[in-house]
Amino acid sequence: MEKQMKMPKTLYGMKPNEIMGALGLEKAFQGKQVYEWLIRGVTQFTEMTNLPKPLRERLQTQMPSLTSSEVLDTQIDETGATKLAIQLHDGAVVECVLLIDRDGRKTACLSSQVGCAMGCSFCRTGTMGLVRDLKAFEIIEQFVHLCRIAPDTSHIVFMGMGEPLANFSEVIQAITYIHDKDGFDIGLRRITISTCGLIPGIEKLAELNLPVRLAVSLITADNNQRTELMPINKAYPLDALKPALIHYQNVIGKRFTLEYVLLRDYNTSAQSAQKLANFIRGLDVIVNLIPWNPAAELDWETPTNREIAIFTRELDALGVPYTRRYSRGRGVNGACGQLAVEHTTERGL
Ligand code: SAH
Ligand code: SF4
Repeated sequence: MEKQMKMPKTLYGMKPNEIMGALGLEKAFQGKQVYEWLIRGVTQFTEMTNLPKPLRERLQTQMPSLTSSEVLDTQIDETGATKLAIQLHDGAVVECVLLIDRDGRKTACLSSQVGCAMGCSFCRTGTMGLVRDLKAFEIIEQFVHLCRIAPDTSHIVFMGMGEPLANFSEVIQAITYIHDKDGFDIGLRRITISTCGLIPGIEKLAELNLPVRLAVSLITADNNQRTELMPINKAYPLDALKPALIHYQNVIGKRFTLEYVLLRDYNTSAQSAQKLANFIRGLDVIVNLIPWNPAAELDWETPTNREIAIFTRELDALGVPYTRRYSRGRGVNGACGQLAVEHTTERGL
């Protein structure tokens, strides 16, 4: 009997024919209809008005929620940045953020893992350790929850919780789904993967030759400092990272970003600028300067504006191309590196 069918946890991540199978639909076009409603962000089957009513009602009873996750909490700051705490089916909680820039462009900042194993000393998520990887559907659902608030979200950055290249295949699956022309249709050039510098992941990205944007959290071009800040630098030090980036650039042929979190009195000296200039020689990059976002339990400080101005003057003199990131999302603790979950109810695996 149809009624005994086991319903999936979610329909996100499925292609129309898979939806058809999972829901026991009789007609292929109905799989496509459901898929289209999912992309439009409806929250339940009763809203899928082009399905025959008895079918809608059966599905509504069997599967009251279309997502495996739910929004636990929403916080909005004065810039319009909206942070969602999302509870996953096992009780774990991740965060994602909608950022609106000055031109009104909307970017979804997504998490790839619950917590992060990399333990960078300046990052709040790093203090959590890794709880678990997210499945592709859990990454997609963050985007869905944000699109329900802002359907015109056009860009995605993997700069939430976790190291996306440490959860490579689920992240790529999620990107493939979100990129689908008949679905969300987000162009690959509008999707940025940010990594702490996992060389095997960067190599795999080059192999796939997927024209997503890459951002690498360099933070400092001094190898000893980097080891002090980022344990990953022991396994993949700067003199190994640079050839990997050159290889990536030769394959992909697109400019990428180096993220440089500005830490007061630590990586903002003239010498730091010089090391950065040396590191980027031969790389087609732009350096994204991010003044450190405070996180209560961490001991770093944000540089003063004067300190930043002196550093950028050095960069100008050395011809280092940079942009200065405007800290949106700080008001909701949703800016880079501020994501950590305080209200995880269970740490279920
Ligand atoms: N794990 C990936 C992506 C998530 S972190 C990575 O490390 O790149 C996203 C960005 O936030 C990274 O560039 C990281 O360096 C930066 N970041 C982490 N903590 C921060 C903080 N407290 N203030 C400002 N930026 C921070
Ligand atoms: Fe993980 Fe990135 Fe934070 Fe480092 S900066 S702990 S890699 S999320």
